[in-house]
Amino acid sequence: MNLLNLTTLYPDEESCKAKWKEFRDEQQIVCIHCGCKEHYWKKDKENYECKQCGYRQSLKANTLMHGSQLPFRYWFVAIHLLLSAKKNLSAKELQRQLGHSTYNPIWSMLHKLRRAMSNPHTRHQLAKVVELNAAASTKNKK
Ligand SMILES: [Zn+2]
Repeated sequence: MNLLNLTTLYPDEESCKAKWKEFRDEQQIVCIHCGCKEHYWKKDKENYECKQCGYRQSLKANTLMHGSQLPFRYWFVAIHLLLSAKKNLSAKELQRQLGHSTYNPIWSMLHKLRRAMSNPHTRHQLAKVVELNAAASTKNKK
């Protein structure tokens, strides 16, 4: 998986969002209000609605993206860079790569990702999200 594969697989915000939703569906959504595991997907509002109590949560809620205003695509790129052995990736460098105007949200994202990925299980899960189709997309090339 290189940066070109990544941008081919996830050319825009929509494709990243769709992939993240797929991941969340696999993980199963649990209502933080009542613990119910059945939800409706509200496509127009892009959130899950609990079938039992009606509590809504966004795609980012209760994940490491919780409360983040940054696009999904930023997260995907950052995960990719961290997986690509860029252990010394600085927030400043990431900010430059993403072309984002402010430093703090990028620093915060990187910090959350580093902490999450120090857990091997989480690291593996995130790798699966971002790089799942890497093998397939290579195979498809003649
Ligand atoms: Zn509920």
